[in-house]
Amino acid sequence: MTTKNTNLSKLFASSTFADMVRNKLMKKIDVHQSSYPQKEIYMMAWGDTNHPLPPTIVEALVDAAARLGHQSTYTGYGAFEGNVKLREAICNNHYKHRGIYLQPEEIFVSDGAQSVTFDIQGLFGLDNVIALQDPIYPPYLEANLLAGRSKIIYLGCNEENNFIPELPKSKVDVIYLCFPNNPTGAVATKEKLKAFVDYARSYNSIIIFDAVYSAFITEPHIPRSIYEIEGATECAIEIGSFSKMAGFTGLRLGWSVVPVALTLESTVAGELTEMFRLSQSIRFWGASNLAQQGGIAALSQQGQQECQEIVNYYLENARMLKEGLSAFGLTCFGGTNNPYIWVKGPEGMSSWEIFNQLLFKTGIVGIPGSLFGASGEGFLRLSTLCRREDMEKAVENLA
Ligand code: PLP
Repeated sequence: MTTKNTNLSKLFASSTFADMVRNKLMKKIDVHQSSYPQKEIYMMAWGDTNHPLPPTIVEALVDAAARLGHQSTYTGYGAFEGNVKLREAICNNHYKHRGIYLQPEEIFVSDGAQSVTFDIQGLFGLDNVIALQDPIYPPYLEANLLAGRSKIIYLGCNEENNFIPELPKSKVDVIYLCFPNNPTGAVATKEKLKAFVDYARSYNSIIIFDAVYSAFITEPHIPRSIYEIEGATECAIEIGSFSKMAGFTGLRLGWSVVPVALTLESTVAGELTEMFRLSQSIRFWGASNLAQQGGIAALSQQGQQECQEIVNYYLENARMLKEGLSAFGLTCFGGTNNPYIWVKGPEGMSSWEIFNQLLFKTGIVGIPGSLFGASGEGFLRLSTLCRREDMEKAVENLA
């Protein structure tokens, strides 16, 4: 008899983050809209971009599409690790000027960071102890549960520790860190990241560092990559994305770095890189060649400048909203070096109560912090990756 995947059915029974958002949250908005059809809604729930792509990227995409229409320039399947020109551009234009020297062989291009959140855990044994930040970007937890892991510990992120977790009290095997953080809006200093790198090196643990919001860091002393910390190539995998940095949420393009220097207890240098190459060759046959041409354009000097202007536009949204919310009497975290604002409700108010009140009083829709983990209770996450007109109206409404 055919049996079902019990890891998947357990997740199905407990409801995933995406399901909670789709079912419970969207239903609440529907009810609100039908009760108050005249009231405006300001959607700040999704971490989705909406600013149009900058001209350098659009030109590259149009050109790449035209080349697919001619026999002499048509291309089909590419290398499943990604176009070598794109991998070189990631090494040279994203990392090198920060003193990080990676080789294209260490870069794996993907269709965004999301698929990597699942694929990357496939490098590790099922009995590993996994440490997750709490609150956490939920797919990291869900990927490990789906794979069948049960040894999961949480590193609390709260007001007292500025939403940067303390080091694990005992030995863990894999530590997930995300900075700039989704959902808390926190960023980590070099000293904090160094403590994690030192921990990982001394315990032979691996850090999976999610840097998909690195473009939002404007302060030079805040590291944009874990590899700015000495020794990190020996113990860390980094995940990057063009989604927020260049508006590729729909185009889909990202990458992961599995350095040759990375080793586990019973592996030699280069083995994990080769293992990931093998696993990608089984799961994934390469990102869209169009998106990859767009990625090369995004990493050109002109492309980077144009993308940064859009990032700055979102950061200005964040500044405006934080100011508006503070004037409204709410305590806010994040919103600088990060597009997310983490709003604290009045003492004793639950995340869903904050959600309901803000929606009812101002029309602003966020995601209840409790959906990101137990330590998110009492908070609400707001995304500022929205249109300026909507942000202006929302802030006016707050006032
Ligand atoms: N990691 C974090 C922390 C995210 O917030 C997101 C998307 O919102 C992703 C990964 C996935 O991004 P991508 O669009 O590159 O798949």
